[in-house]
Amino acid sequence: MRPIQMVDLKTQYQKIKTEIDTAVIDVLESTAFINGKPVQQFTDNLATYLDVKHVIPCANGTDALQIAMMALDLQPGDEVITPSFTYIATTEVVALLRLKPVFVEVDAKTFCMDPDALRKAITPKTKAIVPVHLYGHAANMEAIMQIADEHRLYVIEDNAQAIGADYTFSDGTKKKTGTIGTIGTTSFFPSKNLGCYGDGGAIFTNDDALAAKMKMVANHGQSKRYYHDVVGCNSRLDTVQAAILNIKLRELDNYIAARREAADYYDNAFANHPKITTPHRAAYSSHVFHQYTLILDDVNRNGLNEHLAAKQIPSMIYYPVPGHKQKMFDSFNLPNVDLSTTDWLTERVISLPIHTELDEEQLTYITSSVLDYINQ
Ligand SMILES: *Cc1c(COP(=O)(O)O)cnc(C)c1O
Repeated sequence: MRPIQMVDLKTQYQKIKTEIDTAVIDVLESTAFINGKPVQQFTDNLATYLDVKHVIPCANGTDALQIAMMALDLQPGDEVITPSFTYIATTEVVALLRLKPVFVEVDAKTFCMDPDALRKAITPKTKAIVPVHLYGHAANMEAIMQIADEHRLYVIEDNAQAIGADYTFSDGTKKKTGTIGTIGTTSFFPSKNLGCYGDGGAIFTNDDALAAKMKMVANHGQSKRYYHDVVGCNSRLDTVQAAILNIKLRELDNYIAARREAADYYDNAFANHPKITTPHRAAYSSHVFHQYTLILDDVNRNGLNEHLAAKQIPSMIYYPVPGHKQKMFDSFNLPNVDLSTTDWLTERVISLPIHTELDEEQLTYITSSVLDYINQ
């Protein structure tokens, strides 16, 4: 049996090695390391895949969020509503720009922003909402967009974990996650579903003026070379990464299918177990399984983690400390809101290996090892 990893980038690379190596060498030969042709090609290809008007490439998914918030002209003290149950990048950027993060509760089934909690958190100072499509499953965007429209709030979808997921509205129309709100952001960190071989990120929007502003912000606030109209930053996707992403984008739907197949295997193995809740799949969202995350009931989670580690099976807690308990926000005087579901989930979640290269032998070994511990 091949060693089991949380993500197996090496086996995945070996399957596309010839194409990747050629593309990378082409970039080296061209010496167009910044803004070479593959950058525009990838940007166009991704816009077509997502069916969105503008894709702006940038250096990573955290920058993508920052550029989005800078382009919306949010002012210090403006409130931005986000889940606490997410990766820190989402909320860190809010704090970095001296905006006020307002943490809200997630839905215990989908792990994503609870629209009722969102509604209650809105104040006259609220300017933006940042839902996160956590683990590869969409937040309830139809409800979130309705609330945003009622209160004229911007919506920035953090799509770093769900690129390629389809959202189905109640009238049957479909959109890709990240293209529903005012702006969508993503990350091409190597372990993400569409990962490059270094850092990378992108921003999506259908709004022409916002797209122009975000391009400017990402490029030192320049409208014309050496003319700087707004305070910006320097955030680029380099040509080597774009060349790699062009090849991996072609594989994305196959990669998603492989992740789903592994998730289905897990779902079957753990079905109806009284101590295990498998990932929910809401009717409005396809699931691209960036993570496969169980909720454990009455199981010693550390014990399970150690039992699996002894059998060379990695498992992870995403995330061990929710945003509202991070020291970095101590000075922010955060309002005391009920985040008991977030705390409850934080104590009970565990993520199993999921990637594009898991085979049945590995899956059988993982599921039987999990069940051995839980049923003992
Ligand atoms: C990975 C991730 C980010 C940040 O992406 P980087 O490219 O690492 O900066 C932001 N939000 C979420 C939810 C993520 O998973």
